[in-house]
Amino acid sequence: MELRRSAGRATPRHARDHAVVLGASMAGLLTATVLSRTYATVTIVERDALPEGAEYRRGVPQGRHIHALQASGVLIMEELLPGLRAETVAAGAKQGDLLGGIRWLFAGHRLRRTDIGQPLLFCSRPLLEGQVRARVAKLPGVSFADGHDVVALATSPDRRTVTGVRVAASGGAGGDGGERVIDADLVVDTTGRASRTPRWLEELGFQPPPVEKMTVDVGYASRSYRIPADFLHGDRLVLTGCTPQNLRGGGVETIEGDRHLVTLLGMLGDHPPTDSEGFEAFAETLLFPDVIDAIRAGEPLDDPVVFKYPASVRHHYERLRDFPEGLLVLGDAVSAFNPIYGQGMTSAALQAQALARQLAGGGAPDWRRFFRAASAVVDAPWDTATASDLVFPGVQGRRTLRTRFVNRYVIRLQGAAVSDVSLAEAFVRVAGLVASPQSLLRPDRAIRVLLRGRPSGSGEPRRPVPAPQG
Ligand SMILES: Cc1cc2nc3c(=O)[nH]c(=O)nc-3n(C[C@H](O)[C@H](O)[C@H](O)COP(=O)(O)OP(=O)(O)OC[C@H]3O[C@@H](n4cnc5c(N)ncnc54)[C@H](O)[C@@H]3O)c2cc1C
Repeated sequence: MELRRSAGRATPRHARDHAVVLGASMAGLLTATVLSRTYATVTIVERDALPEGAEYRRGVPQGRHIHALQASGVLIMEELLPGLRAETVAAGAKQGDLLGGIRWLFAGHRLRRTDIGQPLLFCSRPLLEGQVRARVAKLPGVSFADGHDVVALATSPDRRTVTGVRVAASGGAGGDGGERVIDADLVVDTTGRASRTPRWLEELGFQPPPVEKMTVDVGYASRSYRIPADFLHGDRLVLTGCTPQNLRGGGVETIEGDRHLVTLLGMLGDHPPTDSEGFEAFAETLLFPDVIDAIRAGEPLDDPVVFKYPASVRHHYERLRDFPEGLLVLGDAVSAFNPIYGQGMTSAALQAQALARQLAGGGAPDWRRFFRAASAVVDAPWDTATASDLVFPGVQGRRTLRTRFVNRYVIRLQGAAVSDVSLAEAFVRVAGLVASPQSLLRPDRAIRVLLRGRPSGSGEPRRPVPAPQG
């Protein structure tokens, strides 16, 4: 892949009609795709020196862990970049069905399986990001200023309009660290959880957005393996969920290069260790034996790596009454979810799609309308993730009557989905963000849940549950 780079270039000669995207991860790439339809030129500023292909990089440390792209994310990315799915498969990704290709082992239940016509992609995060980046690099007017750190916003003298960004060559890029300004008609911040927009707003005299936080203290450890091809019987992903009785979960995903990625995780401080023995001992304690069996059948290819995720955080930009013109924020910078639900890339895609809809109406994007539209699409994944976290007594948050009822209902539904494939399908469509959470409450489904549902943990016998730590 050849990236068009503008790193050494000064501000474009015609600054009008120029958009600058901060961050070249999934949200930034999808945002640039959408902007390239309307803006003559789009510059993506990225701190990392971007690799040519599917390599792990420092700015996306989560890329070393299982990264499931939800069904809705696959559909939106294909709509934004037609042909992406086939190209990613040609580059080594596997395809598999949302229900038929995944072993869903949730709330102590093994969900019934069948193909439901929702093909997903299974590959490493660097492969998917590399494929998207390669496509974005070919879009007319798009260039990358990688190896550049965004250090500040540039504004009009009255500080009410953002007119560009101040960037400096990042240490690793071999630059001298000297700063320069890239002018822009629009700046979109997609720098993820570390976004500095709230701080910049305060410096400019605006209120920062109200923040909602839910502490989950999740720890990940991942390692790649070579597992015999037929061991998983063609299944692309095995997912074992945590429960309040067992805070540990994990998964095995088929990725490119005949490899499998094994991720172990634990909620509320019950984190997996990284030494080989401890890693396997942790896998041994998951509710189902599928992950440890795969580990035992496989050969490790590297050492486990960790990631700690303290809290889900949502910035309510849609609640602001005043905000600078010429600036938007999108992706994890707006809403970063507990990663165990695998929603972040799809949430970024949904927000990019909301931006595309607004731009299709003509004119410059309006921050009020955009933040309202983005918030509307973030609501479902945010509500699902935070409500699911509230199942765990150790998670602090408001448990309304509705949350308690829905959580109990969903666990019962998962129990019924052990034998009722239509309920299994209904559940995975919601998890895949292709159906609304409300769809689970449809009267015909509720009746089946009441008739066939089983409380958590009454499925097949499993490994002993470890004593909760801490
Ligand atoms: C452990 C873990 C597992 C996850 N698993 C899944 C999953 O299974 N499925 C899923 O959909 N999502 C998952 N996610 C979430 C997903 O990774 C993100 O939602 C997704 O990458 C979109 O984030 P983003 O592009 O907004 O920000 P990020 O991915 O965080 O990217 C931010 C980018 O901005 C750059 N940057 C930051 N600061 C600056 C600066 N000052 N100047 C220039 N560049 C800068 C960074 O280098 C980076 O490239 C997971 C997250 C974690 C932590």
